[in-house]
Amino acid sequence: MTAAVSTPKMTAPAKRTRKRILTGDRPTGPLHVGNYVGTLANRARLQDEYDTFLLVADHHMLTTRLTALAEIEANIRDDVLDNLAAGVDPEKVTYVLQSLVPQIPELHLYFSMLVSVPRVQRIPTLKDQLRDLGLREPTYGLLGYPVLQAADILCVKGDLVPVGKDQESHVELTREIARRFNELFAPIFPEPQALLPDVGLLPGTDGREKMGKSLDNAIYLSDDPRTVERKVMGMYTDPKRIRATDPGTVEGNPVFVYHDTFNTDRAEVEDLRRRYREGRVGDVEVKRRLLAALQAFLAPIRERRAEYAARPRLVDEILAAGSERARREAAQTLHEVRAAMKLDYFGR
Ligand code: ATP
Ligand code: MG
Repeated sequence: MTAAVSTPKMTAPAKRTRKRILTGDRPTGPLHVGNYVGTLANRARLQDEYDTFLLVADHHMLTTRLTALAEIEANIRDDVLDNLAAGVDPEKVTYVLQSLVPQIPELHLYFSMLVSVPRVQRIPTLKDQLRDLGLREPTYGLLGYPVLQAADILCVKGDLVPVGKDQESHVELTREIARRFNELFAPIFPEPQALLPDVGLLPGTDGREKMGKSLDNAIYLSDDPRTVERKVMGMYTDPKRIRATDPGTVEGNPVFVYHDTFNTDRAEVEDLRRRYREGRVGDVEVKRRLLAALQAFLAPIRERRAEYAARPRLVDEILAAGSERARREAAQTLHEVRAAMKLDYFGR
């Protein structure tokens, strides 16, 4: 008898010493100041404490942008540059391109057996997306978007998921899937926690509830100073206010929401708020001061972006190295998953 064919040896990833973060963006366009407050700030803040995986989720773009895929490659590079510019350090954070990790779609397939159709139909982002896209019915792929996100998070066994308020329901579904898998098969997965920012969703410059890459109402981290000026001076404010002497409403007024978020001079914001309510300040002054605050906020981001952009091969190298590490981690997870599900036949 000849020796049995040996199965390929798994090189086990290094032992985990820190809790993990999994977070990410869809490469649907440049990142905006809403993405910054929603998640980028937390990514940068926690990168020393957590072992962070940052996923550029290109497969997720297929769910809503099937006819705009020619942009995807440029968007991927922009997304990485925007994160680098926001201070997400490639020495500390593992940048991953989703499509370079084939274990994610495999895990998505298994997870799709653990979720009912009505459960995913009830996820609130689905209704918003259908409305924004002008669709009556989702595709099978769009319906499964949050299940794919669960596979993103759990293939590296993420513990914490920094996301904006709109994605809270996706992390809740991930927890349910992890629980269900652990009960049915073996306790492999953590139940990840969402980490939401203190502030809610940042509204759009047009006054809509959410600034969005796909909504044409965003101030991008990569906008030059003149573009930011044009966008701020054209922002939606209190529509009922005609003259500077009319008392105005500050609650829900996006100009004041932005002041609260980006203006570090609290006394100035309080003074503007009072005078606005009393009809003693014009919209132009309120916007001028917001513009100054935003330019100050964006200046260091622009500077870092220019430094990174001057190194042309850098983004590709960062993504290649990070995706390789994610593949190793995900291979280990899938090894455990297949064994638990009794799918480890034929040496899988
Ligand atoms: P799209 O319109 O293409 O869905 P998006 O602007 O919603 O783009 P995503 O890539 O879907 O951006 O989300 C990236 C992260 O930014 C997520 O954590 C999401 O919750 C957060 N986020 C998106 N928009 C906002 C916002 N207006 N305020 C706060 N967080 C946001
Ligand atoms: Mg979104």
